[in-house]
Amino acid sequence: MKIALLTRNPKLYSHQRLIETAAKRGHQMVPIDYLKCYMNITSKKPELRYLGEKLEGFDAVIPRIGASHTFYGMAVLRQFEMMGVYPVNESVAIGRSRDKLRSLQLLARDGVGLPVTAFAHDSKRTDDLLDIVGGAPVVIKLLEGTQGIGVVLSETHKSAKSVVEAFHGANVAILVQEFIKEAEGSDIRAFVVGRSLVAAMERKGAKGDFRSNLHRGGTASMIELTPLEKATALKAARSMGLNVAGVDMLRSSHGPTVIEVNSSPGLEGIEKATGVDVAQNIIRFVERHAKPGRTRTRGK
Ligand code: ADP
Ligand code: GLU
Repeated sequence: MKIALLTRNPKLYSHQRLIETAAKRGHQMVPIDYLKCYMNITSKKPELRYLGEKLEGFDAVIPRIGASHTFYGMAVLRQFEMMGVYPVNESVAIGRSRDKLRSLQLLARDGVGLPVTAFAHDSKRTDDLLDIVGGAPVVIKLLEGTQGIGVVLSETHKSAKSVVEAFHGANVAILVQEFIKEAEGSDIRAFVVGRSLVAAMERKGAKGDFRSNLHRGGTASMIELTPLEKATALKAARSMGLNVAGVDMLRSSHGPTVIEVNSSPGLEGIEKATGVDVAQNIIRFVERHAKPGRTRTRGK
């Protein structure tokens, strides 16, 4: 097969692993910097060009679009979709995952466990907003944040109120969430490929940090999920329409709660913590699904 890997940096661990695994299994994988693609949008014959060449003959595309380039990256991916190339994750599903509010609404619609979350456009009813999530302590998150940056724990009603007002004053969109204290600074990353849970790890925050992001100094170890946690992770990926997903969950007193579903989950942390060959799971999924006519974008 000829597989396009949409990435700005093929040298990253995740991308190297996908490239070497594809080669080992007899495929040609072509890394493509999507920001250098340009396109011809016509209904008869959509085209994509890259460094002066037409991109043609691809069977599948693995999108690894950075959060800061979602808009253009999705347009390039849509163009592949229009050309009939099978996307491992569809543009529509990636768009959902990049919008925290929309993701939470879709997950809620399907009955996936979530931390109680509230959102408002301005600060006129902040007391009520804080009440909805059960009062302080609360977690306040930037809608646009990643890697734990822009996630704030407010211990008191007073501090929560001023943080909400400060963000609103600066015109920054945020959501307010019940603080899951029982998680004790740990979260679970479940890696889903297709309808299977292929690996899971627990991440613990650096000492004194309630955030467990590896980018914030957290550490990871393999973990066995309960049947309910497994089912929650699979359901979350399905609700979003993602074939490859990193589902982040917290263990709360009211069961597993999903905090985020990532559409370009990294491979390094999970492969090193669990010893699972996640790259191989992804390439084998592509082998099973990238058939002519299988391209589709499920808007619902
Ligand atoms: P990001 O997308 O920036 O990683 P997350 O929503 O995943 O933001 O939050 C970062 C980390 O903060 C999580 O991995 C988790 O450890 C912690 N966290 C997030 N939300 C909550 C919450 N409601 N209660 C307790 N801890 C949380
Ligand atoms: N079908 C759409 C979706 O699942 C509805 C929600 C939306 O457009 O935001 O993404």
